[in-house]
Amino acid sequence: MTIIMILVLCGIMFLPFAAARAETADGHAKPGGGRKIVVLATGGTIAGVGEEGKTAGYTPGALTAEELLLAVPKLAQVAQIDTVQICNVNSDDITVEIWLALANKINELARDPAVRGFVITHGTDTMEETAYFLNLTVKTDKPVVLTGSMRPATSISADGPMNLYQSVCVAASDEAVGKGVLVVFSDRIYSARTVSKYSTYNVTAISAGERGAIGVVRDGTVLLYESPSKTHTTQTVFDISALSALPRVSILYFSLDADPSLVRFAAGHSDGLVIAGAGAGEFSRKWIEVIGGLSIPVVVSSRIDDGVITKENLLCKNTVAANSLSPQKAAILLRLALTVDASQEYLEELFLQY
Ligand code: ASP
Repeated sequence: MTIIMILVLCGIMFLPFAAARAETADGHAKPGGGRKIVVLATGGTIAGVGEEGKTAGYTPGALTAEELLLAVPKLAQVAQIDTVQICNVNSDDITVEIWLALANKINELARDPAVRGFVITHGTDTMEETAYFLNLTVKTDKPVVLTGSMRPATSISADGPMNLYQSVCVAASDEAVGKGVLVVFSDRIYSARTVSKYSTYNVTAISAGERGAIGVVRDGTVLLYESPSKTHTTQTVFDISALSALPRVSILYFSLDADPSLVRFAAGHSDGLVIAGAGAGEFSRKWIEVIGGLSIPVVVSSRIDDGVITKENLLCKNTVAANSLSPQKAAILLRLALTVDASQEYLEELFLQY
């Protein structure tokens, strides 16, 4: 056996151990100590393929989880990665069935002591919604991190590989334990409740506006500065294990002179409504008349990004204030709330607590 063959063999034998060692060669702690991270892939631009070098006109959800990992060989130094392909779609095609499958899968895998945390690859369009849904329904303290990319895998300077690398580092870190569901994007860590998509084109599209990031990632170093104060994960009342659907909630966007018959129509086809009101959750007298007479739950949010609606802002007595939840997140909380109790008192309490 030549010396080269011996070295290669030693290298092959050493690889799994290298991935499992808790320290780097220079004695620094590795994030997660090389424990197991499960990457659950759902599609989106991070898995998108198009014309070489271009950022638009690509097919989202074209690469598998395994193919995404090939672009980041350095991940082997952070953790042992298992993959689950949940679906491979544009995130606008994510459904409640996919949400339930994803949350149930995480709850099942979280019982395995070898699993350290989870990374979900997801399109950016609805990432904030899946993040908030999981924040309310997964029953584990283990880190659950969503990520994606604004540029497809085939573009120049694709942002997916770095976002994926940083997400695995966060999911493997002790700092992220018990922090609720997180979103990692462009070097920053966000809480699921406050994160949102703010741009249709640039690589810092995912942000949290006024509320900001709760941490940063620099290469493999995870720095978390704040903990979410609202109820999440293990502390929520929601149990989705036996559900196959969620109550229907429609979101109505108010604009000047908007037709009140839209409200009547939506109410007739929904179990609850969310109003994206103007300013502090306001709408016209015509809308007040219709909304004030509804007998299904109505939550009032704002069409403004930095919207905070309190009880004092409400124009109709039968409505509930969304607090600082965006209309799309208020709809998720309302859908889950309706699986427990539809009374106004209960909803008022819940929208303050979550
Ligand atoms: N349309 C894509 C999606 O949400 C956009 C992206 O991932 O950035 O799946």
